[in-house]
Amino acid sequence: MRQQTIRRPVTLEGVGLHSGKPARVTLSPAPEDTGIVFRAGADRIAAVPQSVVNSHYATTIGRNGTRVQTVEHLMAAAAGLGIDNLEVEVDGPEIPAMDGSAKPFVTLLAAAGRNQQSARRRPLTLPYPIRVGSGGRWIHIFPSTTFRISYTLDVDHPAIGTQVLSWTAATERAFVDDVAPARTYGFLKDLGLMRKNGLARGGSLDNAVVLANRGPLNGLRYRDEFVRHKILDLIGDLALLGRPILAHVVARNGGHTLNVELGLAIQRSLGIERRPAGAALRVLPQVPASGLAGI
Ligand SMILES: [Zn+2]
Repeated sequence: MRQQTIRRPVTLEGVGLHSGKPARVTLSPAPEDTGIVFRAGADRIAAVPQSVVNSHYATTIGRNGTRVQTVEHLMAAAAGLGIDNLEVEVDGPEIPAMDGSAKPFVTLLAAAGRNQQSARRRPLTLPYPIRVGSGGRWIHIFPSTTFRISYTLDVDHPAIGTQVLSWTAATERAFVDDVAPARTYGFLKDLGLMRKNGLARGGSLDNAVVLANRGPLNGLRYRDEFVRHKILDLIGDLALLGRPILAHVVARNGGHTLNVELGLAIQRSLGIERRPAGAALRVLPQVPASGLAGI
């Protein structure tokens, strides 16, 4: 397989889920082996695990104090459509939420067309299984011949309960139909506290499934939309590796912080850890080495 970029620039505008602020995003073609690079003002931020400066409720990348919040759904759409190289110009603090899923980004990338490049795509293969997390929240990743995610979401809420889905990235269609439209979700009871902490300020029934005590306030796209969205977030966060990975990911109640920890652990296992020059130091909590050790 050859690397791909888009054919022509495309633009999208909307409001950020957490900041509540308007933003405009322009996607442009990029040369082979560039990966996905965000441009915000004068700063260029490589979409790599080392660029992550915050993973609380959303994945934020940054450099030199410039930040771009909530990159994961756009990253998932690019990975799902096999776009390797892309420049993302962001005018605003956050990638727009749109409908809370990756579907609008899939539509945008489809409208941009695709250009096959001459360099080969080089999927990553794991040397050994890796585990991150502890207690009821963990991710295991195992070497495999295909990319597959088996996810268990276990939440004590009548609308969620235990949702289990094993999804194989067999075709682009599988991503577009099974995962991309699944929306982000939040609990009505948490909204006040989240907003106080600068989160979910742009959140509404237009861009999230909002769960009240008895159930969702809006209609669901899938009966198990919640676990599908967790898979979407995992795809988006693993896309920071810059190359597809041939592995079976088995996750339980993960989140962005664990997803990013996994990405860093995968890089360490492959000896391809890299820190972009001048990148901001990560502010993620330090994880004891034993928690990341291969099993
Ligand atoms: Zn998400």
